[in-house]
Amino acid sequence: MKKEGCGIVGIALEQGNAALPIFYALYALQHRGQESAGIAVSSGAKEEKENEISGNVRDIPLIKGMGFVYEVFSTQRLESQKGNIGIGHVRYSTTGASKVENAEPLLANYRGGKIAIAHNGNLVNTAEMRRELERDGRIFHSDTDTEVIAQLLAKELMKHDPIEAIRELMKRVIGSYSLVILMNNTLIAVRDPLGIKPLCLGEIKDDENGRSGYIIASESPAIDMLNASLIRDVRPGEVLMVKGGDLESYQLYRGKNTAHCVFEYIYFARADSVLDGRLVYGVRMKIGERLAEEHGVEADMVSPVPDSGITFAIGYAKRAKIDYMEGFIKNRYVGRTFIMPEESSRDIAVRLKLNAVRANVEGKRVVLVDDSIVRGTTSRRIVDYLKEKGAKEVHLRIGSPPIIAPCYLGINTPTREELLASKRNLDEICEFLNADSIGYLSMEGLIDSVGIEANNLCLGCLTEKYPVEIPGEVCIARQLKLTQF
Ligand code: SF4
Repeated sequence: MKKEGCGIVGIALEQGNAALPIFYALYALQHRGQESAGIAVSSGAKEEKENEISGNVRDIPLIKGMGFVYEVFSTQRLESQKGNIGIGHVRYSTTGASKVENAEPLLANYRGGKIAIAHNGNLVNTAEMRRELERDGRIFHSDTDTEVIAQLLAKELMKHDPIEAIRELMKRVIGSYSLVILMNNTLIAVRDPLGIKPLCLGEIKDDENGRSGYIIASESPAIDMLNASLIRDVRPGEVLMVKGGDLESYQLYRGKNTAHCVFEYIYFARADSVLDGRLVYGVRMKIGERLAEEHGVEADMVSPVPDSGITFAIGYAKRAKIDYMEGFIKNRYVGRTFIMPEESSRDIAVRLKLNAVRANVEGKRVVLVDDSIVRGTTSRRIVDYLKEKGAKEVHLRIGSPPIIAPCYLGINTPTREELLASKRNLDEICEFLNADSIGYLSMEGLIDSVGIEANNLCLGCLTEKYPVEIPGEVCIARQLKLTQF
């Protein structure tokens, strides 16, 4: 998997300015999306700039723009965003095109004012919900599922208090959603009843800048970044509300099972994240060790495809007792780039990012470890590149079972036709990749390594069985019930 979903953060300080800590927290979540970034706080000044949307809409000033976090914000702009409560977002588009109108947070009107909302995940009933809201006269400004959530919430807020409105919202929307919402000086966080996408809670306690309060973020490194303490994950089906310095929890829905996205452990999350009580680094080490047990081979060195294969490769090398050595060095300063149309060699895209080290690989039998294979085109170029630099054999080892189906729940994956493993057997895959052998982690090995039972994970793209109803796909329904509070 090479495309992430989004990252979200919400911060409620007792006093002081939330925009700057949100900015730092977004830095820690940059790996989850590099297309656009945005911050909304509870009060502040007006901002305007080309190719960006700004607003000073009833106590919710908003700055968002295309690009990396450091490209969108400046010290001056952050200082102008006054307010002790706010939310932030980094985006990689899943639903909706890559344009500034779709950047988040998004704003929506309701009877009591405005709400700002930031979302990680993907709804599968967006079109139907949008049609219904448009029939009610609601006007959309973006083509994202997040605006559907925002408009539906605004509609429910006409009839209910915030918690009841969110309960109604959660009844209607289908798919994955971790949300942070800013409403009337209140920070609200919501995690879908299956807990598909991650969300965690931390506490900032009188830090070096005298700040205290709460932080809610997609991943724990955003909490570490502020020297705050991780308290726990937001529970599936739970709503957290931070108001006037107090934290309240409402368990609105409780499922018999959860459906945590297994690819958060394999690829999306940072290795230093603690997800649902597990350090991702530890899971990836176990995967590497298990791969070595399942797919051992005579070799001279183990090399990762950097960066995603590093931890798996360390685990593999340790268990196989084969030297770990870097066959590739990654250029960390490429960022977003373009290739001129007249550039004939498509390999330039790989060589811009990775340089194979001839002295390390020449004449060697190399175990090359990566997290997953999607289309296989990049993997094939990487294998060829190692061979061009003199590798005698290249044995590919993959830290996940084959991806055979699309993801509808937060990642932009290709169709079945484009997925390498969807219609090919192992021999055909190995031949396509020009590798000397290939070994994928078994499903059992994956589940053991993650340490969560299969019926509490989403494995949809690996098994073609999804935890929610998706037209044309098989669903393993996870029973949910409404709990009173
Ligand atoms: S289908 Fe795959 S990538 Fe998508 S949520 Fe499920 S496990 Fe994660």
